[in-house]
Amino acid sequence: MPRIEIALPQIRDNARMLSELYGQKGISLMGVSKAVLGEPPVVEAMIQGGVKFIADSRIENIQRMKTAGISTQFVLLRTPLSQAESIVKNADISLNTEIETLKELSHYAKIQNKNHRVIIMVELGDLREGVLPCELSDFAKKTLALPHIELIGIGCNLACHGGAKPDETNMHQLSKLADVLEKKFQIRLEIISGGNSANYEWYSSARDIGRINNLRLGESILLGRETTNRKAIPGLHTRAFQLIAEVIESKNKTSLPSGEICQDAFGNTPSFQDRGMRQRAIIALGRQDVQISSLKPDSSLEILGSSSDHIILDSKNQNLKVGDEVRFDLDYSGILSAMTSPFIRKQFTDRRSRAAA
Ligand SMILES: *Cc1c(COP(=O)(O)O)cnc(C)c1O
Repeated sequence: MPRIEIALPQIRDNARMLSELYGQKGISLMGVSKAVLGEPPVVEAMIQGGVKFIADSRIENIQRMKTAGISTQFVLLRTPLSQAESIVKNADISLNTEIETLKELSHYAKIQNKNHRVIIMVELGDLREGVLPCELSDFAKKTLALPHIELIGIGCNLACHGGAKPDETNMHQLSKLADVLEKKFQIRLEIISGGNSANYEWYSSARDIGRINNLRLGESILLGRETTNRKAIPGLHTRAFQLIAEVIESKNKTSLPSGEICQDAFGNTPSFQDRGMRQRAIIALGRQDVQISSLKPDSSLEILGSSSDHIILDSKNQNLKVGDEVRFDLDYSGILSAMTSPFIRKQFTDRRSRAAA
């Protein structure tokens, strides 16, 4: 069975180093757990590393973490209308952009006799979620009028859909919006959440971070990278996740298929380069398990192609044998897909140093 190895000490180290780095200027961290589906040992490692909140996009993942006994402040990153009852029950804080949804949350918070805390997301150019800045005051006013809803902050999300980069201009705009709301409604906003793993460069170069006092980090903690250019953050581990699968065939074959060439299993017409006879290996891992373009084999292997259940490798005369294991590094989508596959076993390790791939 293929397995994903997760080095918990590396995740703990990353969370700790990022908490210290961002903490220097008063920024608290939400550890984002959606890529690992709220996998409890990973989340524990983030909390041990110092993140103050755990944020996930799925209420099911938050339920899972609570059932596992994890105790922290849970933040829901996405708010489906029809799950309001469960959101109030399970999440301490949610991110919001629609009054309809807030009304539902208010309704269930009243029934459950509690206050639900909310952060309003503002649209600052990336064109994913967010209330337009010119409508923010009106939106905040309506939010403040809802019983059992407590407005604790505003936030924005950049570099996700439109690729809009966090910079001094948009971060300054968010800070200013916070000032405006506070003044206008005589309130104090506790959280100004400036973004995600793409905010590293802004943070490193900004002369003044303004009112920004929170970030929501997934990829930086899990893979040690910022996400505007996918550069490694100095001192962080970038290989905490490795995917391992087994060789189920290894043979010398020609590099060109024979016979008339038609469509492959996925409707593409393949074309290959003639490199003569090559040592080829097939591993028991396929598109049903993981996004293949997310796999990074070491330089002694090359991925020639894949189908639902197989990956075909040029093993470059490495002489792989049936039963041997092949190891891959993964990018963020690779982690997301591998963690979601029911066919991949999750294995937690105490590996701290870099393993040879
Ligand atoms: C997924 C998500 C994040 C985390 O993004 P990373 O790039 O992994 O740090 C932050 N905020 C929101 C709203 C998200 O959906």
